[in-house]
Amino acid sequence: MKMSLINENFLELEDSYLFSTIAKKVSKFVEENPDKKVIKLGIGDVTKPIIPACIEAMHKAVDEMGTKEGFRGYGPEQGYDFLRKAIVENDYKARGIQIDEDEVFVSDGAKCDCGNIVDIFAQENIVAITDPVYPVYMDTNVMSGRKITLLPVNTQNNFTPELPKEKVDLIYLCFPNNPTGTVLGKEDLEKWVKYAKENKSVILYDAAYEVFITERGIPHSIYEIEGAKDVAIEFKSFSKTAGFTGLRCGYVIVPKSLNGYTKSGEQVSLNKMWNRRTCTKFNGVSYIVQRAAEAVYSEEGQKQLKENINYYLENARIIKQGLEKAGFTCYGGVNSPYVWLKTPENINSWEFFDKLLNEAAVVGTPGVGFGECGEGYFRLTAFSTKELTEEAIERIIKLFK
Ligand SMILES: *Cc1c(COP(=O)(O)O)cnc(C)c1O
Repeated sequence: MKMSLINENFLELEDSYLFSTIAKKVSKFVEENPDKKVIKLGIGDVTKPIIPACIEAMHKAVDEMGTKEGFRGYGPEQGYDFLRKAIVENDYKARGIQIDEDEVFVSDGAKCDCGNIVDIFAQENIVAITDPVYPVYMDTNVMSGRKITLLPVNTQNNFTPELPKEKVDLIYLCFPNNPTGTVLGKEDLEKWVKYAKENKSVILYDAAYEVFITERGIPHSIYEIEGAKDVAIEFKSFSKTAGFTGLRCGYVIVPKSLNGYTKSGEQVSLNKMWNRRTCTKFNGVSYIVQRAAEAVYSEEGQKQLKENINYYLENARIIKQGLEKAGFTCYGGVNSPYVWLKTPENINSWEFFDKLLNEAAVVGTPGVGFGECGEGYFRLTAFSTKELTEEAIERIIKLFK
């Protein structure tokens, strides 16, 4: 009898117990301590509502869809021209980077893009991923059976991944980083672009947290590096920037000068391949959502967005400075909504989690949940309110006095 065979690579996936284990521990604590107010600094989701400029744009778009003249059916798979143009003008041209509109592919978010992009690459490719890491890169490549090389980032290398010793073909880099909140300087990024050029590798650059960059000299896009258009694909998202985590919109840049190779060494345009893949498997982001994304770039939109980002950055500052004053070693939190702290007294990530929950009623995320090299670290996020963030930090400090 012929059976339907499964993709056995899925059996190689490690079950991710991280967030379900956290949820279970928190609900048990709440049950046993109904009078305690739990503060959650573990969430990786924004909490501020979508900015008024986007809401207005969506109302208008909804009304248009109800009229004979304004109705839109299937849109272009790659995104409407108005949004691709706004992206090119604001995110690139304004920084002196030349990106063409047909190098922009509007999508329903960076998570899907980071996962789907591997469709156009061979299974034989060796993939480099930092440890700790955003789990999507790892699991996507396990599902398609690729060999993975881990690049440890830690205090010793100042959270800057070192070039791999064996040749790798695909390299995921995410800066500002989730979970560590650290950034990559221009010179470090230049090293990676040079490596990719010499080894004919492709860099998959996740810049989902780009708007949180506050310091000068930190690249906002990999294309600020000379030659990067020949070696890199860039992912961006409106999720953490404009609060689109529920609305869903992002984009990916696949430059036309970026090539992959056939086994016989022939060059093939990755832009053409990704375009073909997109047209076949995707039917575009809704018109209403793309109008909302366009409004992010309006004068009002930019003003409102910056207010929100500054609010989160202020929370990050409260976390980082408060904990540092109390003797903790912290990373991130300056160009990022994430603070990555070294657990005190060498206790492990989960012990620190339990202590914070049980003795301070504060929830964060154990670093080891993002990879083995995250052991001994802990992630706190800036997406709560200022008041709760302040209270949480006070409680943590008291605990370690
Ligand atoms: C949140 C996040 C994204 C964005 O995902 P969306 O699918 O656009 O919501 C991408 N990369 C990283 C590292 C993230 O943390």
